[in-house]
Amino acid sequence: MHPNDPRLRSFIEVDPASDFPIQNLPYGVFLTPHQPDLRVGVAIGDQVLDLAALEARDMISFESACEVFAQPSLNTFMALGPKVWALTRARLSELLRHDNPELRDNAELRTRALVPQALAQLHLPLRISGFTDFYSSKEHATNIGSMFRDRTNPLLPNWLHIPIGYNGRASTVVVSGTPIRRPRGQLKLPTAELPTFGPCNRLDFELEMGVVIGQASTIGEMLSERQAEEMIFGFTLLNDWSARDIQQWEYVPLGPFQSKAFGTSISPWIVTREALEPFRVHGPKQHPTPLPYLQQAQSNNYDLQLAVDLRTPKMSKPATICRTNFKYMYWSSVQQLVHHASSGCAMNVGDLLGSGTISGPDKSERGSLLELSWNGMVPLALTGDEHRTFLEDGDSLSITGWCQGDGYRVGFGEVEGTIFPAVTLTD
Ligand code: MN
Repeated sequence: MHPNDPRLRSFIEVDPASDFPIQNLPYGVFLTPHQPDLRVGVAIGDQVLDLAALEARDMISFESACEVFAQPSLNTFMALGPKVWALTRARLSELLRHDNPELRDNAELRTRALVPQALAQLHLPLRISGFTDFYSSKEHATNIGSMFRDRTNPLLPNWLHIPIGYNGRASTVVVSGTPIRRPRGQLKLPTAELPTFGPCNRLDFELEMGVVIGQASTIGEMLSERQAEEMIFGFTLLNDWSARDIQQWEYVPLGPFQSKAFGTSISPWIVTREALEPFRVHGPKQHPTPLPYLQQAQSNNYDLQLAVDLRTPKMSKPATICRTNFKYMYWSSVQQLVHHASSGCAMNVGDLLGSGTISGPDKSERGSLLELSWNGMVPLALTGDEHRTFLEDGDSLSITGWCQGDGYRVGFGEVEGTIFPAVTLTD
């Protein structure tokens, strides 16, 4: 049976509402209090399957001599390539099946290899080589263009021809749960003559998906649609924290710099491209037709539901402020990657691509506070008498995402970050 078969069941009980049924098997990096070495695991129900423990017992093996899963990141495994990714996932699926006694009936191995998620400390799962952020939702780009440029002609002339992006910082990508320190920077109000330096007053989130590149490409060479697709290892939830006031002053003429460099959060579980196969859909019709190198022969979007929850320190439970879907993206992840390499730019194992803020056609589907509060002019009503235009200290922002199957869902867990006050300068 294929690892995506909806009929598969595990001997580990999995709640139908869980993000991690046997059809998912996302990869992460974790440690436990008993065993403080970082290692690779997959999520199954409320457990983590320790792959380093399985590898040590030859329950899973590779041709390469070195240890693949007793590693602090997924990079060693990813470098082995898509054929190994598929074989490994098939083997893990087989080991977890309800009718396979290998692991099910080996109590000693089960104790060693299955860790409750509540005991596992999840770490950044990748050694990130480079981080590139795109701007590929037409609804998002239209909202931003309407706010800051021209309501009747919001898209710049290049937008419908090219997946717009910029090279971001890999050094400040952090795992879910890491506090986000309010950044400081140069600020200049439109009414002020000169800039000042101080804490950002317009701190925002951006709802995005992260694309994890698992294979390198050669400098000077372009990628076909198929080659690009095969380089994608998997996907993660991504929050591209943004300082709107810093951004507004600095972004001309070279694009965002410090406004996006202080923190980017990702969820700890990387859902494989293969696990998302059943949820493939066509993206929006592209008009004008893209240049030949960007044309797609297959559907490269995914029907992946997304939700954003915001909780202020005064709220007892979070309020959902946005529900949208990854399927709306105008430029697909494959097109972004093809374009990224098109000049001859080499891609590396461990590169991370941000999809760009994912907004949908409805007002409730806007993937940033900049859009939800329409540049701060329409405060967003939360529960009680709480309102927000931008994020305040103590606010916690959480993104969740999942693909709904028949009786199960392939989910991503969450990416959460809480805002900490800006550092005060001391001598
Ligand atoms: Mn972004």
